[in-house]
Amino acid sequence: MLAAVGVSAACTPAALPAAEPAKWGISYEAPKRGSGAEAEFLRERHVLEEVRSSLAEQVRLPDGVTMTARSCKDAEAEYDPETGRISVCYEFVAETRDLLRGEDRPDRDADLDAELDERVEGALRETLYHEGAHALIDKWELPFVGREEDVADQFAAYQLIRQGARGQRHFAAVADVYGLYAADDDPEDIDFADEHSPDAARAANYRCWLYGARPGAYERLVDGTILTPDRSEGCEEEWEALQRGWDHLLKPHREGRNGTS
Ligand SMILES: [Zn+2]
Repeated sequence: MLAAVGVSAACTPAALPAAEPAKWGISYEAPKRGSGAEAEFLRERHVLEEVRSSLAEQVRLPDGVTMTARSCKDAEAEYDPETGRISVCYEFVAETRDLLRGEDRPDRDADLDAELDERVEGALRETLYHEGAHALIDKWELPFVGREEDVADQFAAYQLIRQGARGQRHFAAVADVYGLYAADDDPEDIDFADEHSPDAARAANYRCWLYGARPGAYERLVDGTILTPDRSEGCEEEWEALQRGWDHLLKPHREGRNGTS
């Protein structure tokens, strides 16, 4: 083993630059309790891999972060600073699908199912970017003001909306997810002390940023209920400020700085 390492290092100095090894890892744990379809969905559509590639291309890390797909007790996704692990639970994949599918419709045709798959994939990509923001904030001790959960939502917007039509469709799916959660929320049960903004506020934020990013293209998002005309007037500015903020936060940690790759 030692010899092999020595030979490799001596023969391929250009292939072994000073840059860190890949620090965005991926792992899949075996699904339990009938979550095989969700595990297969993530793998087949390369959901983790695509987000990992996009983040690794943009930002360096001081040490490793692993995205892990796994079975959990609850339907959730989270970043654990103790382990540097982003978890996306198979149960969360199933819950997202149920939510976006709405009422069970046996007459669904293949096109609708393909569209649903696309929206579920989009919501999961957004989740990974959101958790990726927590990881970046933790690893680089990024400075920010306001609520970290809102800052992480803004990072997901910053990533997806700037990817063009597909990213914007995916982001719109998440705006719908929060709208659907909000419609289910009992106003009496809303926890205003929660570290996350209430679902209705997140639904409004997501619509606002998308509307602000593409003036004229998403008029339908200003429905007067979730996103009001009043709020929408400032959305273009909110989107600009959001981008300025994340541009600034990432600048010292951009991949490719100082000749590294
Ligand atoms: Zn979060």
